[in-house]
This record gives sequence, structure tokens and C-alpha cells, in this order.
Amino acid sequence: MSDTSTSVDPAEIAKFDALASRWWDPAGEFAPLHQLNPLRLGYLLQRTTIKGARIVDVGCGGGILTESLAREGGDALGIDLAPAALDVARLHALDQGIRVAYQLIDVADLANRHTGQFDVVTCMEMLEHVPDPANIIRALALLVRPGGDIFLSTINRSLKAFLVAIVGAEYLTHTVPRGTHEYARFIRPSEIARAARAAGLIVRDITGIHIDPLTRRFSLSTTVDVNYLMHLSRPQADMS
Ligand code: SAH
Repeated sequence: MSDTSTSVDPAEIAKFDALASRWWDPAGEFAPLHQLNPLRLGYLLQRTTIKGARIVDVGCGGGILTESLAREGGDALGIDLAPAALDVARLHALDQGIRVAYQLIDVADLANRHTGQFDVVTCMEMLEHVPDPANIIRALALLVRPGGDIFLSTINRSLKAFLVAIVGAEYLTHTVPRGTHEYARFIRPSEIARAARAAGLIVRDITGIHIDPLTRRFSLSTTVDVNYLMHLSRPQADMS
């Protein structure tokens, strides 16, 4: 087992595990992930090949993104540290007749065992729940093959993000439970870019996600001050 003290917050895992049964309720606590999913899937499909690709979805939870990647023909593995969320993910895939693998394993352990074996690595809405995101980014960089792609999404550490994602979503509209997000854990795109470059990755794109406060519809945006997506890739041949 790797030392997970800086890459895992057990209280965060427990929070998601306790909500496991709610994962596939499109109107429940995870509604924003359901609403976001077609948009982020579209972003991925525009930027990489999913069909036939070996994909690992890190911090997959109940499998909203993982399942959609498998539906697009990807050979998808979802990993998480919340056992009940993974149970829900497995049952849901079975129920839908979709072939997806799920595994309870730390990302650094998977990276040691399957270094460079994935064409596509995804890690969405997870980095803002870990003590040291750079640690996770290093593991993601190890998982992807040379020339492969990594897709991340998270929340910026800005005043607007505080107002929208915490005050608005947790206290005003109650779209997500109180305590879902902690401001200090939000991450600036520049911080991810720095960690990515340090891990030998190329930053291909940063795209914002706009949420219409009235319709709650999500759309891609050039403004990255709240939610954003990032596309990183590993160079074809490592320079080192
Ligand atoms: N990626 C999914 C779920 C996001 S919710 C989606 O976007 O649909 C955040 C998930 O990250 C939870 O399932 C939680 O258990 C998981 N998580 C948090 N810290 C983690 C860590 N260090 N390693 C793996 N999973 C983690």
C-alpha cells in the first residue's frame, strides 16, 4: 500500500460513502453531476477517442461518468475508495447491462501496478476533495501511456466560486448538501497546470463550465472562475 496521508482525506470518503444510495437519483444530492455529465462527455469525445480506448476513471463514485464512457465503447475501469459507492456503481452497471470494471484501490497503487497502461485517464470533481492534488496528478501522469490524454474537472478558488458553489449551492438553493465543498480545497487552474508540467504533462486546454442560475443548465464557457475542465496529455516520447 502506498502512503495515502496526503492524497486521501478519510472524512471526505466517508461523506460520499454515506450518500451512496442516492447516486443515481437524478434529482438527488448528485443531480449536478447528472446534469454536467453530457457536457463533460461531449468535451472528451471532441478531444480524444473513447471507442476501444482503455480508460480509468479516478474517483468514479457511483459511476455516472464511467458508465457513459463504457456506453461510448470504452474499456472502462472506475476506481474509488468509497466501498458503498462502488457497490452502487457495480449494481447499476449490471442493471443496465453495461460492461464496466470497478475496483477499490488507491490511485498511486494502481499507477504502480499498471504504469502507462491507459489511453485515457479521467478524474472529475475529485481533486477538490483531496489534501494534496499534486500528488494525485503525479499518479494520473503515471497511469497514462505516452501520447495518452488526461481529463480533469474541479472548482476554482475564487470569490465567485465561493459565492456560487458554497453560498449558492449549499445554503441558498440546497442543490448539494452543506459541507460538500471546502473553499480552501478549491484549486486554481494555474496550480493544476504547474503540477501537471512538473509531472511531465502538456496542458492542452482549459475550458470553463457556465451554470445558468435560472435553468440550472450547464454550458462550456471561456470563463474559468468557477467550474472548469482541463485536458492534459503525456508527450509521445518522454524527454527524460
Ligand atoms: N468523479 C465522479 C464522482 C465525483 S464525487 C463524477 O464526477 O461523477 C467525488 C468522488 O471522489 C467520491 O466518490 C469520493 O469517494 C472520491 N474520492 C475522494 N477522494 C478520493 C481519493 N483520494 N481517491 C479516490 N477517490 C476519492
